Amino acid sequence: MTAPATRSQRHGRGRGCVITRRATFSASHLYSLPELTPEQNQERFGRCSLAPGHGHNYELIVAMAGPLDGDGMVLNLSEVKHAIRREVTDALDFRFLNACWPEFDLRRHEGRLPTTEALCQVIWQRLAPHLPVVGLRLYEQSNLWADVLGDSMEAFLSIRTHFAAAHRLARPELSMAENEAIYGKCARPHGHGHNYLLDITVRGAIDPRTGMVCDLAELQRLVNDLVVEPFDHTFLNKDVPHFADCVPTAENIALHIADLLSAPVSATGATLHKVRLQESPNNAAEVYAEVPQLEMRPLALEALACA
Ligand SMILES: [Zn+2]
Ligand SMILES: [Zn+2]
Repeated sequence: MTAPATRSQRHGRGRGCVITRRATFSASHLYSLPELTPEQNQERFGRCSLAPGHGHNYELIVAMAGPLDGDGMVLNLSEVKHAIRREVTDALDFRFLNACWPEFDLRRHEGRLPTTEALCQVIWQRLAPHLPVVGLRLYEQSNLWADVLGDSMEAFLSIRTHFAAAHRLARPELSMAENEAIYGKCARPHGHGHNYLLDITVRGAIDPRTGMVCDLAELQRLVNDLVVEPFDHTFLNKDVPHFADCVPTAENIALHIADLLSAPVSATGATLHKVRLQESPNNAAEVYAEVPQLEMRPLALEALACA
């Protein structure tokens, strides 16, 4: 017979683990500040300012951490599910977000617009007293999501876009045989192409009134003007000057995109945090643009990314 203590050890009791739980809700919202005229709201928030509002199917990922109990769990998932429903989705599902919670009541001085990042931050405050939350991700749609990693006004905002381009991986000073030995089929002389998927993540403080870490339309315009337009439907080695003497591997392309976006993103008030370039279903490159400053990668973001 195995002693109970040994059994517990085998089940990992006391050892730490991060778990995630997904929940969904559908809700509408409207970006319109009462202190602005309808024209100013339209100018600032575009079609998001059109009354009576519009809706999204939101997806929430909750990452929680803690030691395993004797049953081999960080938390009982049934209790997690009920806490998320009770504290968050019951209050938001099929509702008008502006009217759901006092944080979004714009008649109040402290009221802010229910943007993805502001909503994610308020959900953190609702869940943190009940669950050991270490990270939250909220998808407004598949190409726009926010991450929050603590009880502060700081949030990460990510947008996804794509471009198609051709490249050839070869170093000009090497022979064909040497290049094939390094780059394999990617060194074939006439190149080949990919549909690149590009995720850009910025970090910043949520504005107490607009609820935004930066102007989303401006961020989308920067990524489009500086990356998608110049890269899309090109042969990278020949059409993008940087790659005339830099092999356009996924890693080098991601680094170049980070260099192109870093300063312009800073001008929006946010900080470029991460560039993720997916070349195919089988490979991707990630550049943490802030690692030299932060000297760390937020591990909770990793857990959310894999959820
Ligand atoms: Zn919206
Ligand atoms: Zn390739």
